[in-house]
Parts: sequence; structure tokens; C-alpha cells
Amino acid sequence: MLDTASVIDLLAQPRKIVITTHNKPDGDAMGSSLGLYNYLIQQGHHTTVITPTDYPHFFNWMPGNGDVLIYTDNTAAADTLIFGADIIFCLDFNALGRINEMGEKVGESSAIKIMIDHHLEPSDFDDYRYWDINACATAQLVYTFIVEVLNNKKLVNRDVASCLYTGIMTDSGSFRFPTTTSAVHRIVADLIDAGAVNWRIHELVYDNSSEGRLKFLGNCLANKLEVYDEFNTAVITVNKDDLEKYDVITGDTEGIVNYALSISGVRLAAFIVERRDKVKLSLRSKGEFPANEICKKYFNGGGHRNAAGGTSTDSLEQVLDQFKLILPKYKTLLTE
Ligand code: 5GP
Ligand code: MN
Repeated sequence: MLDTASVIDLLAQPRKIVITTHNKPDGDAMGSSLGLYNYLIQQGHHTTVITPTDYPHFFNWMPGNGDVLIYTDNTAAADTLIFGADIIFCLDFNALGRINEMGEKVGESSAIKIMIDHHLEPSDFDDYRYWDINACATAQLVYTFIVEVLNNKKLVNRDVASCLYTGIMTDSGSFRFPTTTSAVHRIVADLIDAGAVNWRIHELVYDNSSEGRLKFLGNCLANKLEVYDEFNTAVITVNKDDLEKYDVITGDTEGIVNYALSISGVRLAAFIVERRDKVKLSLRSKGEFPANEICKKYFNGGGHRNAAGGTSTDSLEQVLDQFKLILPKYKTLLTE
């Protein structure tokens, strides 16, 4: 592992830098990556953000978005950058499996890998780690990395601030999850002072739905929601036909699981969706309930205690059955 002084030294002259983040990037993945990108380019680093997959269109407004390479669409160019890089920043993920087939390339690259992340149990693929599970977002850590480690608050300009604001806003559930401390609010205040237009960013991210997305949400709530009162658990399951019928695109399913969690008394909510080649689960929980444990043990996944995800190659029906069979094991935690 490198020490902090070496990292500061390393960044003291222009470098070839790749920033990457987890597959199907969310607001924190894109916000932290583009926030760091907009910081590094001011210092003359040749910097490219490479995402393993596409991401929701409501993040396309972010400064730097036009320079993002999507790995699946630009594999050869991305590989050249990965193997030519001096430094690869790995943001908002804790294991190379989270960046799909890109993980092998990043693992093989001789670049120095810097992890900035807030997920539990990081695996050992990095050379320097700036990591705190208590952070509400990786974007919060990118802010303190720039301000406290690199001592460069003056370079937090409007572009950096707008991206980091987005990451914190989305990963904190619009500033309402328990990780949203007073320190987070102070950082957010700094970001607004630096030029992030908070109300406008909320509009760009949250008031940017197509009519189809809203009708799809209506269908999920009216026809796809099941509540298991005995276990204080609510589940929404969606099959391929539903996705086709409503022309669902990347990002349209984001946040739907939270409606299930908003039912009074519900402690665990799941959104289970049949994708092209696999079934994807999104779990959310209240309080001490370890949603990540279920994802890790049963669905090849992981995440945070209250927000986790996983996948399965079984059918949608099988996954739902399996999920229902797991609930009794957690009955005490779910009901007492
Ligand atoms: P979402 O439900 O929004 O896809 O994911 C919620 C959180 O769960 C993410 O921030 C991430 O930490 C975690 N997560 C989602 N999918 C996976 C997965 O397949 N593997 C792992 N390890 N974590 C996941
Ligand atoms: Mn995050």
C-alpha cells in the first residue's frame, strides 16, 4: 500500500489517469467520477472516465459527460487507456467483479490503483485506499480527498461541485438517510457556495421522467406489489414483458423499490426484475436489518446494510420463491 504522501507526490505532475466506477452507474458513481474528473483536468492530468456500462440519461447533463467512454461501446479505446494509465481511480466499488469484464483489464494494468469508496469489506486490488463506510456517498469522500488530503479546496469549482452534489444527493436519498450527518450538510453548503445550483440539480435528476416511466411506476404499484405482512416485507416483481410494454430504459427502474419501503411498518423491500440475461434484485431495509447479508449469501451480491443488490441466473419465479423462503430465517429481525 502507498502512503498518503506518495499519492500527493504522484499527483503533483500531470499523469495519465483513468477513473472508473461500478456497472450500471448510479448518481453517486457518476457524480463522484465526474466530480474527480473535473478536479483533475484543472491540474493538467490527461483524464478519462470509463464506465463499464451505460447509465441513466438523467445524468447526461453533468459537466464532462461528453467525454465519458462506455466500456461496452468503446472496448478497444478503453483498453488502450487502461493499459497506458499511470493511475486508475476506482470509485464507489469494492471489488473488480463490480466492473464486469473491465475488471480483468484493470487488474492486469500496471497502473497504480486508488480506491475511493464507502462499501463494506473491500477486496485487495488497490494500492491506496481512501475508504470510509460511514460516508453517505463516495462523492463525500471525493470532496474530503480533494479538500483535506490534497488541500485544494480552491479547485472545487462549479463543475466539481455540481457533480459531487449529485452524488451526495442521490446516495443519501435526498439528504434523509441516517448517514446524512451535520458534516454532510456542511459539505453540501460548501458545494452550493462553490456554484452547485441545488434546486436545478434536483429537477434535472428527479423531474426528468418520460410519460412511459411514470405509467410503468403506476403499473408496478397497482399490479406488481405484494406485501407479506407476517414478515413486514414488500416485493415488486417485474418481468421482461412489462419492461417492453412500457419501453423501460436504463434508469427507469431506479428508486421504485423505495415506494415499497415507504409502506408503514415495512422493514424490507425488494424490487426484482427480469433483465435480458439474468434476474436483478434491489433490496432496501430500515434500521438494523442487513439487506446486504441476504444479497451476499443468496444472490451473488452485496452492498450497504440498508441498500443492497444482487443477481441470479434462475427464473423470475424461482428467485421470488427463493426470496420468500429466506424470509422466515429473518423473522425475528423483521418483526421484533
Ligand atoms: P441498487 O439496488 O441501486 O442496484 O444497488 C444498491 C446498492 O447495492 C449499490 O449501491 C451497491 O452498493 C449494491 N449492489 C447492487 N448490486 C450489486 C451487486 O450485484 N453486487 C454487489 N456486491 N453489490 C451490489
Ligand atoms: Mn455510493
